[in-house]
Amino acid sequence: MSNATVDPEGSVSGGVTVLAPNFIKDFIAEDVADGKCPRGVRTRFPPEPNGYLHIGHAKSICLNFGLAREFGGLCNLRMDDTNPTKEEEEYVESIQQDVRWLGFDWDERLFYASDYFDQLFEWALAIIRGGKAYVDDHSADEIRAHRGTLTEPGRESPYRNRSVEENLDLFQRMKAGEFADGSRVLRAKIDMASPNVNLRDPVLYRILRATHNRTGDRWCIYPMYDFAHGQSDSVEGITHSICTLEFEDHRPLYDWFLRELGIYAPRQIEFARLNLTYTMMSKRRLLTLVQDQHVSGWDDPRMPTLSGLRRRGYTPEALRDFCQRIGVAKRDSTVDLALLEHCVREDLNRRALRVMAVLRPLKVVLENYDEGRTEELDAVNNPEDPSAGTRKVPFSRVLYIERDDFREDPPKKFFRLAPGREVRLRYAYFIQCVGVVKDEHGEVVELRCTYDPATLGGAAPDGRKVQATIHWVSAEHAAEGEVRLYDRLFTVANPAAEDDWKGALNPGSLEVLTGCRLEPALASEPAGAQVQFERLGYFVADADSTAQRPVFNRTVTLKDQWAKHQASPKAPPKASPKA
Ligand code: ATP
Ligand code: MG
Repeated sequence: MSNATVDPEGSVSGGVTVLAPNFIKDFIAEDVADGKCPRGVRTRFPPEPNGYLHIGHAKSICLNFGLAREFGGLCNLRMDDTNPTKEEEEYVESIQQDVRWLGFDWDERLFYASDYFDQLFEWALAIIRGGKAYVDDHSADEIRAHRGTLTEPGRESPYRNRSVEENLDLFQRMKAGEFADGSRVLRAKIDMASPNVNLRDPVLYRILRATHNRTGDRWCIYPMYDFAHGQSDSVEGITHSICTLEFEDHRPLYDWFLRELGIYAPRQIEFARLNLTYTMMSKRRLLTLVQDQHVSGWDDPRMPTLSGLRRRGYTPEALRDFCQRIGVAKRDSTVDLALLEHCVREDLNRRALRVMAVLRPLKVVLENYDEGRTEELDAVNNPEDPSAGTRKVPFSRVLYIERDDFREDPPKKFFRLAPGREVRLRYAYFIQCVGVVKDEHGEVVELRCTYDPATLGGAAPDGRKVQATIHWVSAEHAAEGEVRLYDRLFTVANPAAEDDWKGALNPGSLEVLTGCRLEPALASEPAGAQVQFERLGYFVADADSTAQRPVFNRTVTLKDQWAKHQASPKAPPKASPKA
C-alpha cells in the first residue's frame, strides 16, 4: 500500500546530497588547487563504539562522506576503539548499519584503531628513545593534583627525569603485565607550564586489564584516545581530519606527536557540533536512559539515535536534508527540533500514502443505510502524487469516527459533528446526527445518524454546504490495532543544562492507544511502511506489528503542535484533529 518504506536492514538509497557551501569545503578546495592532495581527498568518520550513533553523528557522517563524495575522494569508517571497558561488538555493528542506512558506504575501508596497537606501541618506544616520554608512578589522583588549572601552571612529577633506559625497561614491563592496573602510566614530556593543559605531559598509555572486543587479552596496556587518534589518521593517509570544536585544543598535541614521530600530518579542521532543542546528545546520558529503562532501548522511537529515529519513521532522505540545511559553522549553536520535524514532514508529504485511521473510536450507526450492504468507495492515495492512484475503501452501516470529532455541546468555532448537525465523511457522504446513545455514566457511546445518498463524492446537488470533513472507518471491515503517540522526550529546551536532567523527562512522551480502528489494508503493512493517517500525522508500522495486531508509531504530527505552546513549554500539547 505505501511506497515509502524504511528498510530495517539498512540498504542504501540512491539520493546524492550535495553539501551546502561551507568553510571546510573551501579549505579543501584550496588544498586541492595547491596540489596538496596528490592521491585525492581522504576523510574518515571515527566513532568510538561505546554507544549508538545519534543525530549529531549524522551531521559528521554527512559532512565526512559528503566531502569525500564531492571531491571525488574516499571516506573511511574507523572505530576509535581504545577503551575496552566501554566498547562492545553490539555498538560496532549498529554503527555500520546506521551509516549504511543513512546512505553512505566505506567499501572495504572499515578500520579500527586497535588495528594499529602494535604500531602505536612502537611509536611510544620511539618517543621514549627520543627522551620525550617517561613512565610516571603517580596515581591518577596525583597526576590530576599536579596538573594545575587554567590560571596556574602544573607541577612536574618527580619521575619526570628518569633515564631513557629506565623508561624503556619500565614501559616494556608495563606491557608484559608486571605492574598493577593504574600503578604507572606512560606520559609525554612536553611542558607542565603550558597554557594549554593538553600539553602538560599528557598520558599516552595506561595499564588496564580489560578484554578488548577485538584484541582480546593480548594487551594489558592501552593507548589513550589522544595518542591514537591523530596517528590513526596519519596511517590511513587522511588528508583532512574533520573534528568537532572540542578538539581544537588537542590539535597542538596531535601535531606534537606527528612531528616527534616524523610521520605524515593530515590537516585538522574543527567545526561546531550539532545541538538540538529538547534533545539529549551525550552518549553517556543516552546510555543512562537505556540502562535505567526510561526508554525501551537504544532504538526507542523517542531517542535521538539513528536507530530510534528510524523506528520513529524518520527517513535517511529527511536526515540528509536536515544536515544539509543546518550547514557547518565554527561557532556553537542550537538548532530548533522543529526544523528536523519539518524535514521529515516535507519528505513524507511527498511520498507517504494517505489512509484513514480512527485512534479514539466513537461508533456511528447510519439508520437509513441498509444492513448488510457494503460499498467500495474511491479514495485518493496521495494528492501530492497523482501517480500514486486511488484505492477502494469499504463503507457500511456502522462506522467509527474520532471521538474528538463530536461534541454534544459544541463550543463556538467547533464545526464538526454535533446533535442536529451535518458534516461530510471523507470520500463518502454527508451525514447528520439525529440521536445520541449514552451509557449508564452518561458517556456518549454511539451516535445515530442518517446519510444523504445524493451527496456521494462530497457535494450536495441542492448546493447546501457543510463546515467540516471528518475521517472514518467501517466497523465491520476495520483492522484493530495499537497506535503509539510519541512526543518530545524532554519538556525543557536544553535538558543538558538542568541540574536534574532526568527530572526534565516528559511524562507524556509516549501515549499508547489500543483498540484503534484502521483501514483494513493497514493490517498487512510490513514493519517500516510509512503512511499518513489523514488529519492526524505521519505514522510508521513498528517492528512489533503483526497482521493480528498492527502497531503504528507516530513519526510526526501534520503541523507543528508545539509552535503555539511556546509560552508554556512545560505543558506538552495534545494532538487533536482539526476539521
Ligand atoms: P564521546 O563523548 O563518547 O567521545 P562523541 O559524541 O564525541 O562522544 P564519538 O563516537 O567520539 O562520540 O564521535 C564520532 C564522531 O562524531 C566524532 O568525530 C565527533 O566529533 C562527531 N560527533 C559527535 N557528536 C557530534 C555532534 N553532536 N555533532 C557533530 N558531530 C558530532
Ligand atoms: Mg568523541
